[in-house]
Amino acid sequence: MAETLGNLARTHWCGALRAAQVGETVTLMGWVATRRDLGGVVFLDLRDREGFCQVVARPEVSVAAHGAADKVRGEFVLAVVGEVAARSAETLNPKIATGEVEVLAREIRVLNEARTPPFPVEDEINVNEETRLRYRYLDLRRPRLQHNLRLRHRVAMEVRRYFDEQGFLEVETPILTKSTPEGARDFLVPSRVHHGSFYALPQSPQLFKQLLMVAGTDRYFQIARCFRDEDQRADRQLEFTQVDVELSFARVETLIELIEPLCERLLGLIGVSVERPFPRLSYAEALARYGSDKPDLRFGLEISDVSDEMRELGLQTFPELIAAGARARAIVLPAEAGVSGMRLRKLNDELWLQRIVPDARAAKRNLFTLKAGDEALANLAKKGASEAVARRLFEKLGARKDDVLLVGVDQPGPLAMAMGILRLEMGRELKLIDPAAWRFLWVLDFPLLEFDAREGRYVSLHHPFTSPRDEDLARLADAPGEVLAKAYDLVLNGFELGGGSIRIHDAALQARIFELLSMSKEQARERFGFFLDALQYGTPPHGGIALGLDRIAMLLARETSLRDVIAFPKTASASDLMCEAPAAASEEQLRELGLLAVRR
Ligand code: ASP
Repeated sequence: MAETLGNLARTHWCGALRAAQVGETVTLMGWVATRRDLGGVVFLDLRDREGFCQVVARPEVSVAAHGAADKVRGEFVLAVVGEVAARSAETLNPKIATGEVEVLAREIRVLNEARTPPFPVEDEINVNEETRLRYRYLDLRRPRLQHNLRLRHRVAMEVRRYFDEQGFLEVETPILTKSTPEGARDFLVPSRVHHGSFYALPQSPQLFKQLLMVAGTDRYFQIARCFRDEDQRADRQLEFTQVDVELSFARVETLIELIEPLCERLLGLIGVSVERPFPRLSYAEALARYGSDKPDLRFGLEISDVSDEMRELGLQTFPELIAAGARARAIVLPAEAGVSGMRLRKLNDELWLQRIVPDARAAKRNLFTLKAGDEALANLAKKGASEAVARRLFEKLGARKDDVLLVGVDQPGPLAMAMGILRLEMGRELKLIDPAAWRFLWVLDFPLLEFDAREGRYVSLHHPFTSPRDEDLARLADAPGEVLAKAYDLVLNGFELGGGSIRIHDAALQARIFELLSMSKEQARERFGFFLDALQYGTPPHGGIALGLDRIAMLLARETSLRDVIAFPKTASASDLMCEAPAAASEEQLRELGLLAVRR
């Protein structure tokens, strides 16, 4: 039976007791983590969000408290009143912060009982994630998740402090709104008042933050919830939190200088210092050297173009392929990584063909391995290769004896991506990634537009409000595909932390970009008329960025799943297992909304 709190008041967190409190009478409140009965003396570990404390119930101190301790079970909620005592030398527990002391219970009140939890509430558990998510409130009681929630809170607080100091205002923008074009599917909310009409949940506050610049707010930020109805991947959630930022009269440099110190402060929360300024790479360079627009710079294995050398090497197939537009790109596996001959033979089949380029185009072998060194040179020469060209190749790549060259050959686009995956896979497999490193990077100079062959039109690489670079404006007419944007992405350890751009602030240019995206004047008006109007009332030059708060928290907490830093996340199949959302609506609700439900 649950007892009431009466007039008890907590004096200390369980996790806060230290030797300094010895002799004091304290009142603790917490959950029973463990209970051991050692011949008439009951030991309890009491847990609260700050940690654990050992409580000892001896009949000679209090018969009633001992009687109560005797009956409690795991996860019962207790109030314990007692004196803090120093533990004897042989019972000190250096593994926990309160390991020097224990509380001798004078009174134990059972504030609530608990059913046996479906899994032990402790960090090292072997239980599937479904069960954890179904009983999320128990999962969250575990110290590791408590730590993650706290870290996330500290990140959010630091973000707010930082932007406040910099003169930014946090402004809330609507959740029930009109479709915002970030390229994903919208969540729609039917209107009860206007049957057949829908609000969209914001994919980001993009248009609103730009409108705030028109409104003269000048410096805006918001820790904003965003919604994108996308198929789930390990590092995505249907709803996620973004640190959304916009400021007036900003250049690319202004944004970079604003965000770098913030990153420095956020990493400071976990005691990591970072070097500034962060390195910068153009999009083209990132793709060429790392095969990725979000390269992980914690290790080398840079990709080099070796098309000329492979063409001139004197081996068959390369000249033909390269003449047909293919490129050859290579990474060098260091000899000391000790990749076995057997592994190399399997690389092509298991990694390259099955996982990296599993489409029909790559049905034939297009990953080649070459070993550097005299013996290998002799073998190559036997096959008719030019020794001089081979030496030039090794030299260009800085390959030393017994280093292994992996050379991929394909059309440039797919090859860049494939080499990027290969680089990452080999970096991981050969343990070249320093797990203690934190490497930031700015990726700049993205193309403004990308030609979508399926839709037969240009689409924005970021979003349609991104400004072209001043020097490329003239090329919008004749070579739109070559125009670069004032856009930037921030990358940390191979994760895209966020991205943004300087925006178009000129209504005529904005209309032109909509045209280039094959949007008719009518379509542009229908979707963004209010915005195009606003641009004509004195819009200052402006730009912004959005950083993924969930991802930042995940990296700082050294977790690998976003779900471990979100209190109540959705599963990979888009459901909330605890409250069982999504769920059917009643006939009554549907009628009011003017909807008919079609069940599949
Ligand atoms: N609105 C963009 C996004 O959510 C970021 C930005 O351009 O500020 O990805």
